[in-house]
Amino acid sequence: MRLSRYFMPILKENPKEAEIVSHRLMLRAGMIRQQSQGIYSWLPLGKRVLDKVNAIIRDEQNRAGAIELSMPTLQSAELWQESGRYDAYGKEMLRIKDRQDRPMLYGPTNEEMVTDIFRSSVKSYKDLPLNLYHIQLKFRDEIRPRFGTMRSREFMMKDAYSFDLTREAAEHSYNKMFAAYLRTFDRLGLRAIPMRADTGPIGGKLSHEFIILADTGESEVFCHKDFVDFDIPGEHTDFDSVEGLQAIFDKWTSLYAATSEMHDEAAFNAVPEGDRLSARGIEVGHIFYFGTKYSEPMGAKVQGPDGKEHFVHMGSYGIGPTRLVPAIIEASHDDSGIIWPASVAPFDIVVINMKAGDQACDDTCELIYAALSKAGKDVLYDDTDDRAGTKFATADLIGVPVQIIAGPRAVANGEVEVKDRKTGARETMTIEAAINRFVA
Ligand code: ATP
Ligand code: MG
Repeated sequence: MRLSRYFMPILKENPKEAEIVSHRLMLRAGMIRQQSQGIYSWLPLGKRVLDKVNAIIRDEQNRAGAIELSMPTLQSAELWQESGRYDAYGKEMLRIKDRQDRPMLYGPTNEEMVTDIFRSSVKSYKDLPLNLYHIQLKFRDEIRPRFGTMRSREFMMKDAYSFDLTREAAEHSYNKMFAAYLRTFDRLGLRAIPMRADTGPIGGKLSHEFIILADTGESEVFCHKDFVDFDIPGEHTDFDSVEGLQAIFDKWTSLYAATSEMHDEAAFNAVPEGDRLSARGIEVGHIFYFGTKYSEPMGAKVQGPDGKEHFVHMGSYGIGPTRLVPAIIEASHDDSGIIWPASVAPFDIVVINMKAGDQACDDTCELIYAALSKAGKDVLYDDTDDRAGTKFATADLIGVPVQIIAGPRAVANGEVEVKDRKTGARETMTIEAAINRFVA
């Protein structure tokens, strides 16, 4: 991508409305724009990061055996009347009427709809287990939307829903998502700790919130500090192994970890003082097992091996991609801007032409840009006629992991400079060496 033809509206000034660093940096880097309170456009740079986050989420959902579909944002109120949640949900639900005066709503979550899909076609235990997910916008009319897309009214959620014949089978489905979440957050460059959580309006019995430790987090959390170094399940994890997944779950729940709603002071005080971590955190994922809470009122049942009908045991599993992007920034930035983990960086490499219009600089940059693009890298080429200082500041701000800098003096020697955004380390090398480093 040539920056001269791209749309990346950088802000020079610090936006006054932003209270936390991720919100400030997302606005300054031109990633998002607020359209009305708590409702955002994702501008091209932000959209790239969001897409990469979603690709990792999708990959790990698929690995764990979940199946993607897409459900609409607008739902009929009737479904929610069946479960009893239409009245129970309160003011966070955006209620709308269509031209026939039929009550509709903008979905805050999809338990009812997915249960309806399930009951319309699944009739036998032989079709279980089943886990259906989508990545879709949600709307919750939050009383206090704030911190940009960290807590917005319209936001994206990956929500998965599992269906099983028995409680035991449903716990295995729960453990699959539990392990998939550990892997997902790790691939996003984050350390998320599963904490015992309250089940809230979704209702249910077993629930964990995945929390990233950050000073600006809205949740108050308490946990054993060893979680920070626990091993993440590997990519060859066998998701069909009941014992294997139970062992992962048992390990990751063996030490104390709870949010303030579930906090047990006495149990926490039993943790040796030096091992206690009492901190603030950002909830990036939340999983629930809620048994037959929706299947009973909505009549979602299957025939079991005993020939009888059984209400299915369900769970739901949410991750917030539009919250994850700022959460990653909270965890990874410095005074100059964002430092993207390579897995979600909007571009892999930025090529900085320090003197656009200078033939040697232009030729060198074009050569590098073409070679790296051809090798499948996402390259941003800063070919604008801004001053070099402005270009450096922009490259640091948008946090692309590698900068290849071409200035007249180095180029005259057939060389460029390669800078690592995270460490700041710079290396001068031949043009060929710079290309080979990233093509290999
Ligand atoms: P919170 O406690 O932060 O309000 P929640 O518990 O209501 O969130 P869930 O119903 O558990 O949220 O939703 C699953 C995930 O969706 C959350 O873990 C979070 O990542 C994301 N999410 C929820 N509400 C928002 C929001 N207003 N803005 C952005 N992401 C959100
Ligand atoms: Mg939650």
